[in-house]
Amino acid sequence: METYRAFHQRSVTDREGFWREQAAAIDWHRPFEQVLDYSQPPFARWFVGGNTNLCHNAVDRHLQTRGDQNALIYISTETGQQTTYTFNQLHREVNRCAAVLQGQGLERGDRLLIYMPMVPEAVFAMLACVRLGAIHSVVFGGFAAHSLASRIDDARPKIMFTADAGMRAGKPVHYKGLVDEAIKLSAHPPQKVILFNRGIDVDLDMIAGRDLDYAALREHHLDAEVPVIWLESSEPSYILYTSGTTGTPKGVQRDTGGYAVALAASMQHIYCGKPGESMFTTSDIGWVVGHSYIVYGPLIHGMASVMYEGLPIRPDPAIWWKIVEEHKVSVMFSSPTAIRVLKKQDPAYLAKHDVSSLRYLFLAGEPLDEPTARWISDALKVPVLDHYWQTETGWALLSSVPGVEVIPPKFGSPGFPVYGYDVRLLHESTGEEIGANEKGVVTVVPPLPPGCMSTVWGQDDRFVQTYFTSVADRMVYTTFDWGIRDDDGYYFILGRTDDVINVAGHRLGTREIEEAVSAHSNIAEVAVVGVKDAIKGQVPMAFAVLKDTAKTATAAGRAAMEKEVFDVVDKALGPVGRPSRVHFVTLLPKTRSGKVLRRSIQAIAEGRDPGDLTTLDDPAGIEQVRSAISGG
Ligand code: ATP
Ligand code: MG
Repeated sequence: METYRAFHQRSVTDREGFWREQAAAIDWHRPFEQVLDYSQPPFARWFVGGNTNLCHNAVDRHLQTRGDQNALIYISTETGQQTTYTFNQLHREVNRCAAVLQGQGLERGDRLLIYMPMVPEAVFAMLACVRLGAIHSVVFGGFAAHSLASRIDDARPKIMFTADAGMRAGKPVHYKGLVDEAIKLSAHPPQKVILFNRGIDVDLDMIAGRDLDYAALREHHLDAEVPVIWLESSEPSYILYTSGTTGTPKGVQRDTGGYAVALAASMQHIYCGKPGESMFTTSDIGWVVGHSYIVYGPLIHGMASVMYEGLPIRPDPAIWWKIVEEHKVSVMFSSPTAIRVLKKQDPAYLAKHDVSSLRYLFLAGEPLDEPTARWISDALKVPVLDHYWQTETGWALLSSVPGVEVIPPKFGSPGFPVYGYDVRLLHESTGEEIGANEKGVVTVVPPLPPGCMSTVWGQDDRFVQTYFTSVADRMVYTTFDWGIRDDDGYYFILGRTDDVINVAGHRLGTREIEEAVSAHSNIAEVAVVGVKDAIKGQVPMAFAVLKDTAKTATAAGRAAMEKEVFDVVDKALGPVGRPSRVHFVTLLPKTRSGKVLRRSIQAIAEGRDPGDLTTLDDPAGIEQVRSAISGG
């Protein structure tokens, strides 16, 4: 680990020298005067005085060297559409889109709210927006009207960019109707709504004076060339709301230059992608992973990005591997949730395609339990690397950084502190640094590296209050996640600080118990929550999805299965970790970004109101928890 250690060490002791070198990976229209201005902690300004533009770096600068190479490979298994754009073609479409937006009055600093399905036009709109120096706020398509309205009111967009409909599992999701409803609920509605009509909804109710048809506007700008607006490095590029797993979403504001540098560096040091190759990130543009690694990261690095609309199991569970084979994907990025979906399918699908082009499969978003990690890496025969980050950070905070040094991963560990992050594990109440094998809160000594959030949009106080005040007398950034470091320096994430269960004085992370339950070979997925208990304070309760449900069709079968799970947990953690009950469900309540909504499960288990469910993906998950509880 020598090389890694030296690299990391330098990144936090010689920040200026380190990031000055990394900054050479992007184009600067005007060079920066200062690498870092940290005169107003915890606010960090990176590459002060430098002028650059994200769209230029993602598109224009590649035209000379790779104009005819693929930039965007679009595949929809929902509509059957497949379209490829070279950098030249992408440039053309982005210019047309920029001209359309400019024509409707979008200027530097204005917000554009993008509420779009996974179609290329969504990427054009993002790139066109930053080309103009305007700020996008992409809201995950399909969010209910009032979630959308609250984001409209926070970001106050001048214009909204939307589509007639999205498609999910063959069924349309009517975006236009949701937009109309959200605008009615909004206190600060946009002036204009530009609608990209995919032809899914035939009866569109266009509101005169407000709604405009994208195709018609685009026709007027077919030869448009819209100059890039050069921004000072710290000017915002976008606002993106966190998933809302733990409470109210926060509007993460990102800068321009720092983000471009962070992504460019990560493509090399973390993802090991090479210009000219293809990267396939299975997320959605509505999430941070989509922003960083469907859109900006691969394009800035001169790679083709595969953009996929559809489910991982339609038309069959081999679809992703088919895409990998056909487009010779070298870097893939997905989530543990998605892999657990595949794990419930016939493993034969994983062997159907030649995936030898893949160098790595990266996963992030949720704890990657050891059995799932083992299963996917054995099945694919490709190194699977977990890495850990947040909407706030914009890129990885823990990773094994294979581009710096190839260090064998340990299953269950997302790796080590990434260069630029001065990570510390702190005792939750004393704030003191803890040693190896002790549980602590994962924190970062500021300044946060380039690419991380600059502030909470419009709420500097909230930025400081929320993230930097959890330890008295010391300004540190808290992730609100528990972690532990083993003797070899590998980190493990134990769950959210909200999710700790206190069983008769023993503090257990939900993740530890989930890991233990997952060790049973028939468990596909599990969520554990702490439930109030008169005697022990709290007891863990598990909700598990089984791979094979044949044996649990009867009450006796369920009891036998529950007993087997108890035994497995007893073996791993001892009886303190044993759940009071293991409820079998076929679906867990998850946010639309695939994270288990533990706070709602817990509330139901304690007979309370489940709270804000607008980020919930499928209401059936919550219903199953309810009926499991009431059924005893
Ligand atoms: P909110 O902050 O609104 O409650 P959220 O935290 O779910 O929502 P995201 O920023 O999408 O919003 O998720 C980041 C969180 O996801 C991390 O703080 C961590 O809890 C979890 N996470 C991400 N990657 C990993 C990983 N590799 N291992 C374990 N947990 C992870
Ligand atoms: Mg969070």
